[in-house]
Amino acid sequence: MKKIVACVLLAVVLIVCMGMKGIVPVDVSDTSGEEMVTMYTEDGRSEQFTPSEAEEQKTVGWYDNFNDVLTTMWKEDGSSIVVYNADVNEYEKNGYTSNYSSIFAKVFNPETEEVKDVLKSEVQSYVDSGWKRGNGKIDPDAPMIALTFDDGPGAETTKRLLDALEENNARATFFMLGDHMKGAADTIKRMQSLGCDTASHTYDHTQLTSLSGDSLKSQFEKSTNNLKDIIGEGPSTVRPPYGSYNDSVKSIAKEYDQPIILWSVDTLDWKSKNADAVYSNVMSTVQDGDIILFHDIYDSTIDAVVRLIPALMDEGYQLVTVTEMGEAKVGGLEPGKVYTDLWPSTVKSITGSSTSGGSEKSETSEKTNNN
Ligand SMILES: [Zn+2]
Repeated sequence: MKKIVACVLLAVVLIVCMGMKGIVPVDVSDTSGEEMVTMYTEDGRSEQFTPSEAEEQKTVGWYDNFNDVLTTMWKEDGSSIVVYNADVNEYEKNGYTSNYSSIFAKVFNPETEEVKDVLKSEVQSYVDSGWKRGNGKIDPDAPMIALTFDDGPGAETTKRLLDALEENNARATFFMLGDHMKGAADTIKRMQSLGCDTASHTYDHTQLTSLSGDSLKSQFEKSTNNLKDIIGEGPSTVRPPYGSYNDSVKSIAKEYDQPIILWSVDTLDWKSKNADAVYSNVMSTVQDGDIILFHDIYDSTIDAVVRLIPALMDEGYQLVTVTEMGEAKVGGLEPGKVYTDLWPSTVKSITGSSTSGGSEKSETSEKTNNN
């Protein structure tokens, strides 16, 4: 009886091992005595060749590294299998994918700093219990940019944008109008849960330099209150409509604890309403430290951004919020100061002298757009 149990156990162990490994190399013994090279094909064949033959075989689809003929594939439930490259298409038909990041995402615990790879379907439950998306780290020495969106939240457009950000573990900054917030509470909560910056674009898009006293203050007060009602905190930063500000605006922004954020790349998305134009505008000019201006109220903008997010990440850019970029590059943004970009040259001027507040635009730069 014990023997039977032992055999069954051994069989189970073997099956488990095989299941985990999927494929093990065929054992081809070296009988010739000379140094032979074991080679493999993508459909699972294996043979030995002399070194000179081996070089030739490489030109006709043989590999001397076994790993080169194998692909690891995953299913929605997180189970994995290692298959020969030739079988990838067949396994794809059966619900497997070789794209690890389409199944798993990183989450980190801000208190313990633990980082885990979890199923994408489980990410939300982690977030609900205090974890954050991503690995919690921004590499301050690697390039980063801030995608920023004005005049929203939109309804469907902002939802699509958040879907794309979530899918890619990317973040953005939303300069929202205070009078749009009440009707978009769920969207704004989702922004916060995704780690995005929830920021202000004033209450009703008034040119701030035309205001003073209580009416100027009220643009900050009402936006701050509306956002606090929804997520319990005020705007992280402010972008004045038309990029227009003066000393009074700077001083009230300081009072409300908000750095003033302009932009270094204007996609002119509101003008072209053309996804291809917006896409190439960004890809042709983007550089480390850019703050890129979009409006999340146009379908064409979202069409462009859905393509831009993975393309920019492929180019090595970390897609961070304005606040994160400020913390990573200059140790934090100062309320009331004006930031147009955080290019390396700007960072140098900020960190090199304690009085500079970044590259400031002219006081009341008259914009012809509708930012
Ligand atoms: Zn605007």
